Amino acid sequence: MSDSPPAPAVLGIAVPSPLRRLFDYRPAGAPPAGGWQPGLRVRVPFGRRRVVGVVLECREASDLPLSRLKPIDERLDETPLPPDWLWLCRFTARYYQHAPGDTLHQAMPVLLRQGRALEPRTRERWRITPAGRDEAPASLTRAPRQAELLSMLRQHPHGLVTQAILAQSFTRDQLRALAAKGLAERHEEPRTAGDTTSAARLAEPALPLNREQAAALAALHEGLDAFHPCLLHGVTGSGKTEVYLQLIEAVVDRGRQALVLVPEIGLTPQTLARFRRRFRVPVVALHSGLTDHERLDAWEAAASGRAPIVIGTRSAIFTPLARPGAIIVDEEHDGSFKQQEGLRYHARDLAVARAHHHGVPLVLGSATPSLESLQRALSGDYRHLRLTQRASRHAPARLELVDLRGRPRRGGLIPPVIEAIEATLTAGHQVLVFINRRGFAPTLSCHACGWMAECDHCDARLTLHRQPPLLACHHCDRRRGLPDACPECGSGDLRPLGSGTERTEETLAERFPETPVHRIDRDSTRRRDALEQTLAEVRRGEPCLLVGTQMLAKGHHLPHVTLVVVVNADAGLYSSDFRALEHSAQLLEQVAGRAGRAAHPGRVLVQTLHADDPNLRLLAARGYDALAERLLEERRAAALPPFRFLALLRLEAPAEEAVNDLGRRAAEALRAHLDARGLDVDCLGPVPAPMERRQNRYHLQVMLGADRRSRLHEAGAWLVAWLEADPAARRVRWSLDIDPQTL
Ligand code: ADP
Ligand code: ZN
Ligand code: ZN
Repeated sequence: MSDSPPAPAVLGIAVPSPLRRLFDYRPAGAPPAGGWQPGLRVRVPFGRRRVVGVVLECREASDLPLSRLKPIDERLDETPLPPDWLWLCRFTARYYQHAPGDTLHQAMPVLLRQGRALEPRTRERWRITPAGRDEAPASLTRAPRQAELLSMLRQHPHGLVTQAILAQSFTRDQLRALAAKGLAERHEEPRTAGDTTSAARLAEPALPLNREQAAALAALHEGLDAFHPCLLHGVTGSGKTEVYLQLIEAVVDRGRQALVLVPEIGLTPQTLARFRRRFRVPVVALHSGLTDHERLDAWEAAASGRAPIVIGTRSAIFTPLARPGAIIVDEEHDGSFKQQEGLRYHARDLAVARAHHHGVPLVLGSATPSLESLQRALSGDYRHLRLTQRASRHAPARLELVDLRGRPRRGGLIPPVIEAIEATLTAGHQVLVFINRRGFAPTLSCHACGWMAECDHCDARLTLHRQPPLLACHHCDRRRGLPDACPECGSGDLRPLGSGTERTEETLAERFPETPVHRIDRDSTRRRDALEQTLAEVRRGEPCLLVGTQMLAKGHHLPHVTLVVVVNADAGLYSSDFRALEHSAQLLEQVAGRAGRAAHPGRVLVQTLHADDPNLRLLAARGYDALAERLLEERRAAALPPFRFLALLRLEAPAEEAVNDLGRRAAEALRAHLDARGLDVDCLGPVPAPMERRQNRYHLQVMLGADRRSRLHEAGAWLVAWLEADPAARRVRWSLDIDPQTL
């Protein structure tokens, strides 16, 4: 019985490398108690390096003679990494046609990549010994702090955790000194989940639900033990979060765990505080601010089941769960769920796969669902749960279109809009001005000859900044000083063209000198906490002006804002990207959702040069849902997602010719293959990427489209194999983007 199974002859190991294959090694050293199995980390020689890999296959044979296989250096784990995590990584690598080694690597915390052990974390506690309980020995009269420490321990017969002791300004040396004298002793105790019985679980009572919320929650309760995908489609402020909280309560009640994904912008201290206020059980948050140790801790807490609630941004989808009970994706339409480089996964789509695998409910929540999720809800694949009422008294404000044509603009704003701002401030309320461009102006131009400042490395204009004064490229981050004169004609008449956040801020500050103006964009919030500080001040409710980019559009609760101004709504209207209008409508609706959240109704003024545009008019008159239905019809007619599946081959290199040549040959080879196999897949291109030159590299793309996902994957797999085998492809950076979100 105690004999471990015989070691396999070959270990197929996923090694961090861009190659889409496993590498074979021979096992070495003592096998783990449970025998060799997938999920064990090992250190192996790889080229000239030593790397951490993960065993994925245990086999008796290899394509190479066994004598040619190298043995592993060492085994790092006694037990395999969590099986649900391993399943998800394998699924991800297969679905996104990505190298297994790189997938696993990206999906694990940095410390695990480096070979650190994944062990249950313990907690250190210090307790007084029987000797210490008696009179303080004479030896302590010369060490007053030790004497104080001893008397503190005396008051806590069950001991104190080290952190609590250190928090009282005692030191580890003092603890060790007491231990050496036999007066105190150290204990390691496992961290436990704490008390999760019903009475102790909730720190704050749940809100009584309104009718729609109650119906949604009841529907969710019906399917707690099965894959049960739902679209929670509710206007901003309709209480979706309250529904999540009460679902989580039921999940935790059953001793299960809930995983909550939120957009990058959504994981604010406010959101976290809301979850932590409600529950007494640990809420583990995974965000970019964690140290490597904290991240590993959080991972372990989730994997061991110690943390009943895990909340995080995109990469948190790769958090293992010992007892999965539900997966929730808030703002499921948000672009930050899609990773745009390397492993180009979509966390929402992985959440669907994962919930299906675990057989647990899935909630996708949004006021402005993606057309993908909306279509699945309309077709009955997802249960469509609607929340149409706001918890506060006011319906969400409608958009009012304001025609920009032929009107003078100052800082991007026309006179009637400035008057509306003035009226709102006079009434004692706050105004949010949304402008999707940071910097002072989108570019600097010569009034004499028409020259415009452009980036040397990208097909893009340079943005003019005033604080500090410089020209910056927002695509490659190159910076330049301001020229004194036009480099083309020598004229000194250089003027900013258009408006960014800095210019609008400046205009408003001049026009309303008595009112504070807060600018919120990536530049003004570089310092940590800057955003939270500004928002805290805004929430106090004094009249003020907020000028900001999409950082302001989502998540934040701004109860005193009653007027929202959108400086320019036209960005997404005539884009070559078929998703641009969907994304732009979602953003407008989200921005509009900031208005009138509390006691007063709100207004949303949307400036546009295309006030007659039918889509914009539909959005303004009937809201996102109506526009989304029209867009779905258009997508169906044009055979675009969600009615068709796409994959995009992206190619880039410094040399234009190398990119063109490889793109052309790859597309030709693929077309020949598709013809020969009679595969019903389209191959379009190669065509230059929308911004052909970026960071001095040429970008090209080839689009694949199919009615059936399996066909698309077959074609993609073939294309990837062809590229891996082509010697010229090594000089070009290429990647296959499955379900691309931007073109
Ligand atoms: P959403 O997530 O849909 O934007 P929230 O859950 O943040 O909406 O709710 C908006 C506001 O309404 C919050 O202040 C919340 O506390 C409040 N709220 C939600 N549900 C209820 C309810 N049933 N009764 C009273 N207030 C509620
Ligand atoms: Zn000039
Ligand atoms: Zn650039």
